[in-house]
Amino acid sequence: MSFAISSELFEKAKKVIPGGVNSPVRACRSVGCDPVFITRASGATLWDADGNEYVDFVGSWGPMIMGHAHPQIIEAVVRAAGSGTSFGAPTPAEIDLAAMVVEALPAVEKVRFVNSGTEATMSAIRLARGYTGKKVVVKFDGCYHGHADSFLVKAGSGVLTLGIPGSPGVPEEIVKNTISIPYNDEQVLETTLRDKKLDIACVIVEPVAGNMGCIPPEPGFLQKLRSLTSELGIVLIFDEVITGFRLAYGGAQQYYNILPDLTCLGKIIGGGLPVGAYGGKAEIMNCVAPDGPVYQAGTLSGNPLAMAAGIAALRLLQQPRFYQELEAKSAAFAERLIEVAARVGIPVQLNRVGSMMTAFFTATKVTDFTSAMLADTERYARHYRQMLAGGIYLAPSQFEVAFISAAQSERDLDNAVKMTEWSFKKLVEK
Ligand SMILES: *Cc1c(COP(=O)(O)O)cnc(C)c1O
Repeated sequence: MSFAISSELFEKAKKVIPGGVNSPVRACRSVGCDPVFITRASGATLWDADGNEYVDFVGSWGPMIMGHAHPQIIEAVVRAAGSGTSFGAPTPAEIDLAAMVVEALPAVEKVRFVNSGTEATMSAIRLARGYTGKKVVVKFDGCYHGHADSFLVKAGSGVLTLGIPGSPGVPEEIVKNTISIPYNDEQVLETTLRDKKLDIACVIVEPVAGNMGCIPPEPGFLQKLRSLTSELGIVLIFDEVITGFRLAYGGAQQYYNILPDLTCLGKIIGGGLPVGAYGGKAEIMNCVAPDGPVYQAGTLSGNPLAMAAGIAALRLLQQPRFYQELEAKSAAFAERLIEVAARVGIPVQLNRVGSMMTAFFTATKVTDFTSAMLADTERYARHYRQMLAGGIYLAPSQFEVAFISAAQSERDLDNAVKMTEWSFKKLVEK
C-alpha cells in the first residue's frame, strides 16, 4: 500500500490549516503516522487519495449508521439543494424532523436544532443555568461534550488522546464552575450532588461513555443519577450525541428506560450533514428565546439540506428489527474478536454496548477514566497502523469507539476478524 499522495496532501494542508486538519484527532499523532486523505466512500467502504480501499469502522465518528452515500439520503439532499440551500427563515422540513425527534425520544417534548453537537451541549447547559438560576455544571472524567469552554475539564476524545489537561484560552473563572467526577462512582456522585455549598445547575453525562473508548454505565449508576437529580432539583442532561438513534431508535433513554430533563443530539440526526439538537421537557424548553429569556440562535440552524438528510436517515432507521439486527451483528463480531484475543493470548478488554465497541489493550476491566488509562496506547498505535495497511480503517486513538453500521457485510467483518488476528499475532511476536 502506498500513501504517497496522502502524505503530499498532508504537507500542503499543514501550510494552510493548523496541524493540517480541521479536528485534532484526525492528524493521527497518537498512532504515529500521517493521516490518509479520503476522497470517496460508499456503504462501509472508504477510498483514499492513493486509491487504497478500507472497511470503515469510524463511520465519520458515529453518523454513518446506514453506511456512506446511502442512495435515499443522497437523493433527499440533492432534491433539497435544488430548491435552495439556506433561507434563514422557517421551513416545513424543520417541523417534520422535530416531530420525528419528539416522537422517537421519550424525554423530548420540544427540540431546537443547531449545527453541531458542541452547540447542542453548550446551549443545553446555558438553558439549565437559566432555568435553575444556578451556576455549576457537573460532568464526568473522560466524557466529552464538544469543545465549549465549560467542558474542557478532564475531557475525553482529542483532549484525552493528545494528553491536554485542560486548554489554554479557557479562563479559570469558567473552569471553576465545572466539576468533573469519576464515571460510574455512585459514592462520589452522591457526596458531590448533596454538597449544599455547590450551586449545581445540572449534571451532564454520556449515558454510555464513548469518548474514552466505550465504557458502559454500571448497573444502577444512571438510576442513581436520575433519582438524586430529581430529589435535589438538578437538571439532568443526557448527551446522546453518539447514543441517540444508535443504541435504539429512542436512544439510551429508551435503551435504559431513564428519562433525563434535557437531551443533546448530533451525529446520526444529521444523516452525515452538520446538525445538532437539544430538547426536553416543554417547561424547560419554553425558557429558550423567543418564548423565554435564554438566548440561543443560528444563521444556518434548521438548514434545509441538513433537515432533508436527517429525515431520510431517521426514516431508514424505522425499518422493523433494524436495531435487533444491528445488535446481533455487533454481538457476533465482538464475540469473534474476544476469541481471537484469547487464541493469540493478548490481553484485551472488549467493551460493547449495541453497535459501539472498544478493544482496550489491558488485562484490567475498564469501567472509568482511570482504568481506561491503563490501556497500552503504544500497542494500539502499532495495531492501528497494521490494520490500516491491511485495509481496515479504525479510529486513530485507543480512546475512541469502533462503530458497527448497517453497511458492513459478512465479508467485511470476516476480513476485519482475519486482519485482527494477523495484527494481534504480530503485536505479541516482539
Ligand atoms: C461528538 C460529540 C460531541 C460534539 O459534537 P460535534 O458535532 O463534534 O461538535 C458532543 N458530545 C458527544 C458525546 C460526542 O460524541
